[in-house]
Parts: sequence; C-alpha cells; structure tokens
Amino acid sequence: MLLIFGLKSVVRALPGRPATCPNCGRFVQHYLDEHARKLTLFFMPVLTTSRSYQITCANCGRVSSVSSRERKAMGA
Ligand SMILES: [Zn+2]
Repeated sequence: MLLIFGLKSVVRALPGRPATCPNCGRFVQHYLDEHARKLTLFFMPVLTTSRSYQITCANCGRVSSVSSRERKAMGA
C-alpha cells in the first residue's frame, strides 16, 4: 500500500482590528493572517503541525508576528 504524505502551508485571513502601529504611530486598521502548516495524507490536510499569526499595518505595511496569546487579546 502506498501512502502519500506531504506538508502544506495555509494562509487564512482573519478579521483584524484598528490598533496603534509601533512603526508609523498611526491608529489604523491592522490585518491579521493565520499561517498554518498542515500535514497532508493523500493531499488532504489531516493535522496542523504549527500555527503562527502575522499582523500587517494598513498604513505603512509593517508586518509583525504575534503569538496565539496576543492574538486572543486582539479578540479575533
Ligand atoms: Zn504602520
């Protein structure tokens, strides 16, 4: 029997929220993206191996990583 495993990165856009940007100092909308790494079996995602979050400032485009605890604090 042949098993086909693989790894796949999935990016999901989550609702962001307005926040003060540490780079440009403006209170603007920030976009939140979830980057999940999934183990696939026969090209079907079966398991999430790691998950990280990134927020992007809508004004200056600065991207910063956030932990899942900080993400919860953002209420998303
Ligand atoms: Zn900014």
